[in-house]
Amino acid sequence: MAVLVLGDQLHPAYGPVADADRVVMIEATAFARRRAYHPHKLTLVFAAMRQFRDRLRESGTTVDYYRCETFADGFDAHFESYPDDDLVVMESPSYGTSDRLQSLVEERGGTLEVVENDLFLSTREQWDEHAGDGDPPYRHENFYRYMRRETGYLMVDGDPVGGEWNYDDENQQFPGEEYETPDPPRYEMDATTREVWEWARNLSGSYDTDPPGPEWADPEPFFWPTTREQALDALDTFVDERLAEFGPYQDAMLDDEWSLNHALLSGAINVGLLHPAEVIEAVIEGAREQPDTPLNSVEGFVRQLLGWREFMRHTYREGMPELASANQLDATEDLPEAFWTGETDMRCLSDVVDGVRKRGYSHHIERLMILSNFALIYGVEPAQLNDWFHAGYVDAYHWVTTPNVVEMGSFGRGIFATKPYASSANYVNKMSDYCGDCDYYHTKATGEGACPFNTLYWEFLDRNEDSLGDNHRMGLVYSHLENKDDEEMAAIRERASEVRSMAESMEL
Ligand code: FAD
Repeated sequence: MAVLVLGDQLHPAYGPVADADRVVMIEATAFARRRAYHPHKLTLVFAAMRQFRDRLRESGTTVDYYRCETFADGFDAHFESYPDDDLVVMESPSYGTSDRLQSLVEERGGTLEVVENDLFLSTREQWDEHAGDGDPPYRHENFYRYMRRETGYLMVDGDPVGGEWNYDDENQQFPGEEYETPDPPRYEMDATTREVWEWARNLSGSYDTDPPGPEWADPEPFFWPTTREQALDALDTFVDERLAEFGPYQDAMLDDEWSLNHALLSGAINVGLLHPAEVIEAVIEGAREQPDTPLNSVEGFVRQLLGWREFMRHTYREGMPELASANQLDATEDLPEAFWTGETDMRCLSDVVDGVRKRGYSHHIERLMILSNFALIYGVEPAQLNDWFHAGYVDAYHWVTTPNVVEMGSFGRGIFATKPYASSANYVNKMSDYCGDCDYYHTKATGEGACPFNTLYWEFLDRNEDSLGDNHRMGLVYSHLENKDDEEMAAIRERASEVRSMAESMEL
């Protein structure tokens, strides 16, 4: 029997690959042209696959590595050399992938056994035990506590360390404009990674999409970890240099600081270079060795990986296939061009898009409170926003991008979100240094120069009053909307229509 290793399963110690004598890997390049993927994303996946292949071969494992257009071509080549071969693979977290692979293998006379994916911290059975027959909306906080108990992370004698489950109220501080963090590590490309990088950059603009996708022009030279050694080094660097202040400034946004104290590990974790358990354990151990590390930093980080990441995977499974096209607010606008070009006078949007263009990354609050907040209140169709995130980010895979973008960011279905993450410029001004030097006035909602976040926020509430007005979590904001007289509402609608025209003519 041979082990089929997919491009997001690149850990040598988990799953069937840990004991394999023979491994099969397929690098299907047609995937790369399916949408306008960022060259950093393509380089990360394909370079990490080739590096993994080379490490396996060095350790004596036979690896049949097929570089071809499609998975079908890869299996054609494989079964020509190994007729009737029996394969085993860990289940892919993305909807339908394992079934498709199984059909491709069986059509060629082989067998494919699909086993549990050990690169996560929870199983399907654990989720079922936790969720029971409960109906959505599922609650993250309940699942997170269940996972703390199941794993014993940050628990003493059955109770949470420090007495509280969650220290989020300590994690929303703004450090001031002058705040600086150590530069995160950048890994030099070796010949293997560089070859993929040159290919990925030249692919720009030649996608199979209709219309052809725009280019991610001028990315920085590729620097993300593509080997296990580099990923472990990135983890150590995070724990040693940035973990202590991860918690308090987790939600802050600074024009000159793209990484702040974030781990920058999602790309490596999502391809399997790091197992979430070893990341959490390194963080807990690091905090033990550096006793000044505040508990809110450690707990805040553990919650993301043990709670949110696992929760997203299970709610995606529960929500698919409907989740991918869910659109309960009937949002139909096209994604503004500024999401691709970064050309806008809105300083926040321009800076965050610029970061995505350069590095295929922005941190969580930038994704939620700038990008998807803007798209939500502008009325962008969630599936379009999902496609954009999927194309642009180094860590984007359908199983993780979809619940984050369609559900959390766009309030697509209500499978776990109980209200939309819609906000005015108040939030951006409180948590960032963007508004001070912006051409738009963060204090104005109407008239020339009014910040689009303000105008669109009120117009969004007004436009969706039938769907959201009865939502008890939105009672307060709707009471503020009620206080606006007809004249003010007319000015808001007029300005919102101007903002849309500006966005369409790329003059936002
Ligand atoms: P840190 O801020 O340092 O967090 C630690 C780790 O926790 C991350 O590495 C990640 O593995 C995990 N994590 C935290 N939040 C989430 C979450 N909501 N879902 C899944 N994992 C989480 N994450 C992705 O991995 N891929 C995506 O395509 C993706 N798209 C997103 C789109 C939107 C609109 C939003 C709001 C969030 C998205 N996230 C996605 C979640 C989160 O923003 C990223 O995981 C995080 O920013 C990655 O950066 P980091 O490693 O520096 O994370």
